[in-house]
Amino acid sequence: MNKATPESRLRSLLNELSQDNSVGTFAQNLLYTKPIFVHLRPDIENAFLAKRTLEFSQIFRIASALWLLLFAVIFLGTQYFFPYILKDKTYIIWQSAFVTAAFCIVCGSVCAFIPKTHAFVHQYIVAPAITLLLYQLLVGSVAHADNESGLYASYNIIITMIIAVNSLRLLWQKSLLVIVCSGLMAYATIFVNDWHIPMLPALHSFVLIGIVLMSIAFFIERRERLSFLNEILVEVKSHELSRINRHLITIAREDALSGLANRRAFDDTLVIEWDRAKREEQPISLLFMDVDHFKLYNDTYGHSAGDDCLRQVAGAIKKAVLRPADLTARYGGEEFVVLLPCTDGHGAEEVAERILRTVDSMAIPHKRSLVSYHVTVSIGICTTLPTDKNSIALFIENADAALYKAKTSGRHCFKHYMEPSTQSNFNFKH
Ligand code: GH3
Ligand code: MG
Ligand code: MG
Repeated sequence: MNKATPESRLRSLLNELSQDNSVGTFAQNLLYTKPIFVHLRPDIENAFLAKRTLEFSQIFRIASALWLLLFAVIFLGTQYFFPYILKDKTYIIWQSAFVTAAFCIVCGSVCAFIPKTHAFVHQYIVAPAITLLLYQLLVGSVAHADNESGLYASYNIIITMIIAVNSLRLLWQKSLLVIVCSGLMAYATIFVNDWHIPMLPALHSFVLIGIVLMSIAFFIERRERLSFLNEILVEVKSHELSRINRHLITIAREDALSGLANRRAFDDTLVIEWDRAKREEQPISLLFMDVDHFKLYNDTYGHSAGDDCLRQVAGAIKKAVLRPADLTARYGGEEFVVLLPCTDGHGAEEVAERILRTVDSMAIPHKRSLVSYHVTVSIGICTTLPTDKNSIALFIENADAALYKAKTSGRHCFKHYMEPSTQSNFNFKH
């Protein structure tokens, strides 16, 4: 038995389908050609059946009470107008039809409150139960066609057929099977018992009603298949749209070359972290980095090797920055920044040292560097306690000034805008 409820099963099937672009193309093609027989590919057919089961489940919860009422009306009507049907032993087939209907309705009413049973009931129980009931009614009607109860039986047959074909969300082929099987079983019973009854009028009306109901069921199902394809197409498109949206958001905030955050993401984050640091009266640090003699690197190894080098340096910086709240970004060209919220000057120094060590450990050859035989970086550090008296622009400017200091002090090192010993008063007005 399927353990999931019809709702959850349908949701997960639709989710799977919406992630497959070929589903959208398939649905689009079928919606364009609109064939008479709408054959779906197996995965879509599966979801369509799950939807029918869900509808059955929803109808089932409401309709079981209505069927109980209908049964009571028919039962009481029979008792009032044809009391002999319920008492006389010659009407045993009628009586068994009542027992079958009562059994189905009572079991159905109980199952209606257990959604996990609905898929099983819909798949395996409904068709055989309704076939049995229809068979009993057919035999009952032809066995007593010589009196007024025959006509009464015909009404019950029509009601049962309408419910079977239109309310139980069976596929049209299954409904057809129910009608044909019950008819054949009734015919076999008449034949075996050698009842001499006028078959033609009964057969005529049974087939006629069957054809009318089946054609209605067929065209309703066709329309439902097409509208299901439409639904799936919407799911596929909206999934695609949200994927593109996510991708756009990512590329709008990511630097294509290094994979780090880009300048826009850095600027946005800096504003948020600056305000937070101000509210919480916490220090915030910024490392401003620049690759040493990178122009010479490009001139020596070529622009594409230069790009590769920038990617490796970016990877090294990212590796050296450990806290999830820290942000590493490419500021532009061969310049990188690391924003360190809630970090004082000593903490920032630790990170800068780690970055220098990690870049050194990669030992990317740079034979024309005037500092070392490999690629190196210089780092400017600025730490501040945000207040109304300083600003983000000044913060960046100071980090840049510290970088300049590192460059002029021989490169391949880090420098503070203020020396750590004088950090405690956070006076940046010098
Ligand atoms: P310094 O040590 O003073 O920083 O010297 P430098 O040569 O690194 O500084 P300069 O600003 O003169 O040169 C930076 C070079 O970085 C020039 C530019 O061609 C190169 N560059 C900037 N962006 C990229 C990039 O995306 N890819 C490559 N390959 N090179 C870049
Ligand atoms: Mg530069
Ligand atoms: Mg440089």
